[in-house]
Amino acid sequence: MGFLNKLVRLFTSPAPRKFYPITVKCNRCGEIIEGQINTGNDLSIDDDDDASGVGYYCRKVLTGSRRCFQQIEVELRFNSNRKLLDRQIVGGSFVDEQE
Ligand SMILES: [Zn+2]
Repeated sequence: MGFLNKLVRLFTSPAPRKFYPITVKCNRCGEIIEGQINTGNDLSIDDDDDASGVGYYCRKVLTGSRRCFQQIEVELRFNSNRKLLDRQIVGGSFVDEQE
């Protein structure tokens, strides 16, 4: 029953993903740091590039735990539908690229 309910929910909730998860690995200590972008709040309008039309832009700085003070800077670009177009990282790497 529980499984069926889950299945039903899976197909009946098209809710737009409000949180875009990001997982990065620190270049300095190798720590895995998880963060998320709130696509409802964290994005600012990116109108720099008129070739691709209006999109959204987000810059986020992640820091690891107590021992390491490396700052990992993530830049994400989305199109007008909040679909990820491009991403860049400084100070670390995206973990999902390795999977
Ligand atoms: Zn670190």
